[in-house]
Amino acid sequence: MTQTTVAFIGLGNMGAHMAANCAKAGFTVRGFDPVSEARTRAEEYGIINCASAAEAASQAQVVVTSLPNGKILLGALTGEDGLLAAAPAGTLFIDTSTVGVADCLAAREAVMGAGHTLVESPMSGGTVGAEKGTLTFMVGADDEADLERARPVLEAMGAKIVHCGGAGAGQAVKLCNNMVLAINMIGISEAFVLAERLGVSHQAFFDVASTSTAQSWALNTNCPVPGPVPTSPANRNYEPGFMGALMAKDLGLALGAIDLSGTDAQLGRLAVEFYRQFSEGEGARKDFSGIINSIREQSTDQEA
Ligand code: NAD
Repeated sequence: MTQTTVAFIGLGNMGAHMAANCAKAGFTVRGFDPVSEARTRAEEYGIINCASAAEAASQAQVVVTSLPNGKILLGALTGEDGLLAAAPAGTLFIDTSTVGVADCLAAREAVMGAGHTLVESPMSGGTVGAEKGTLTFMVGADDEADLERARPVLEAMGAKIVHCGGAGAGQAVKLCNNMVLAINMIGISEAFVLAERLGVSHQAFFDVASTSTAQSWALNTNCPVPGPVPTSPANRNYEPGFMGALMAKDLGLALGAIDLSGTDAQLGRLAVEFYRQFSEGEGARKDFSGIINSIREQSTDQEA
């Protein structure tokens, strides 16, 4: 059996680890990212360093994209020297980016129009999940056979694959998931600041909350204060992780869906506003758990 070649487009915080796991699983991986440091790092993981996205895709049976947003995805697919023209006929495209339903459907139309197949597969689990290969993929595929074609590559990068429905359904689930994540992170950050002000140590609050009814990924894995979870971004000055700008993007997509569907999502709307403000400053390039610092700064001075 010939070895499947995977082109990996976007070797950032998530993509680099995912591409590395594909290489570890035995796929030949050809990678591209416009940032040369990202390509060099990926090379250390056994990925073939390509000079352009088209060069990476030209010899692939599968193209995986992990890109910042829908506009960049559509540009990479259809732009000059784009992926659709470069890929051999009938290539399987797996998009793992968070791009919203409308851009996902536009991508599917472009991919199908060029004679290829798209499985949209946004993901959850953060950079830790990307590194460990424990991501959850939310798949939108019109045809079960397309998902089966994508499954070996998804299994190399993740631990759970959920077929959410036809194209667009994966993005819909992702928006709902990240709205909850943002609300969770704001809630747990408010609780830490309140606990501080009540004279309780971070560790004491964590030891109770992380094993009781307040537990969540935001607390147990991505804890917004340094100490209790040594691998969380708070221990490295909030280096991402999951950047504030990406959370603000996801919440913008969620807000569009809230408005379109007429959903009474009041906490979701508040979360949009929190992360819009957070990502206007240096929070844009910090992990989204850095929201705790905004909450601390905006809390009133206590009387002596
Ligand atoms: P990132 O910004 O670290 O990585 C994106 C990479 O894409 C960058 O290295 C960038 O240089 C590259 N890029 C930009 N334009 C490109 C182009 N035209 N061709 C090729 N590469 C290009 O972002 P990330 O955190 O790795 O996230 C990637 C996607 O996954 C986003 O859509 C994000 O919302 C989603 N996501 C991220 C996380 C997380 O925890 N970081 C979790 C789930 C989903």
